[in-house]
Amino acid sequence: RVKGEGRNGYSVYDDGLMEVADARQRLDSELRHAIANGEFELHYQAIIDARTRRVCGAEALVRWRHPRRGLVPPLEFIPFAEESGLIEQIGQWVLRRACVEARGWPDDTVVAVNLSPVQFRRADPVAMIRQALADSGLPARRLEIEITENVFLTGAEDNIATVRRMKELGVSIALDDFGTGYSSLSYLTTFPFDKVKIDRSFTMNMTKRADCAAVIASVITLTRCLGVATIAEGVESHAQLELLRGAGVDFCQGYLFGRPAPAADLDFSRPAAAKQAGAAA
Ligand code: C2E
Ligand code: MG
Ligand code: MG
Ligand code: MG
Repeated sequence: RVKGEGRNGYSVYDDGLMEVADARQRLDSELRHAIANGEFELHYQAIIDARTRRVCGAEALVRWRHPRRGLVPPLEFIPFAEESGLIEQIGQWVLRRACVEARGWPDDTVVAVNLSPVQFRRADPVAMIRQALADSGLPARRLEIEITENVFLTGAEDNIATVRRMKELGVSIALDDFGTGYSSLSYLTTFPFDKVKIDRSFTMNMTKRADCAAVIASVITLTRCLGVATIAEGVESHAQLELLRGAGVDFCQGYLFGRPAPAADLDFSRPAAAKQAGAAA
């Protein structure tokens, strides 16, 4: 931002830093207020069986109902909450709320909850999950925990042990955003994941770029050999869906089947309708 000399003779640089510090301070206190006042809500995005189109579960995605800014998406506050440590309380709320809401869904559905790598560093996430299951009455087999490979970057050994203890509770573990990290394939043999979620960046380009389609096809083949199921993220078109089905993907998630929405909008009673927006494939 070009502002010239600050009023009190501070350089532009100092002025900018002060503004950043102010903004962070404000966000910090607003987030604390939001936690205390219950300003978060969960939206859910359906997870579809690629063959039957049955809605077999949903991913919980947090939003912040800000008094002035309206509905704030997670990428505008989760990274900050991770830096400040507030993710611990937000993440705990998300997990507990998701378990309670999913308790009312059909017994053969799952709810997927994102866990930040930061939640591994602080309190014991295994105890947190055990407690959320006990308090909600949700059977462990109906909870899926989504982690990213970032979990394995720092404190790798400890974190792998923690994820193993999670699995021992009976919950399933999905590797989220697969393909965006830097040595992805090695993580598949590091830990017995139940599912791998192929990142949207591959799905997005698979009908336009042969290399992306090839990556997806080989990931699906590889994971199947390892006994791991696949979910394709960000499915927006029929063309993508058909390519993915041809490659043998197990589950799909994306705007084609529905955007994240409040739990009341989920319909488990019949196969998901595919609604393609626009003509882009
Ligand atoms: P994610 O876990 O990979 O979630 C998928 C994101 O892709 C969601 O964005 C979803 O709305 C979006 N998406 C799904 N289908 C499509 C599609 O067809 N096209 C496009 N363009 N986008 C699609 P959202 O809700 O903004 O969440 C962004 C990220 O924020 C999530 O990525 C996750 O990493 C994080 N996040 C969300 N909720 C939580 C939470 O409760 N805890 C933690 N730690 N992270 C969360
Ligand atoms: Mg996720
Ligand atoms: Mg994801
Ligand atoms: Mg993603």
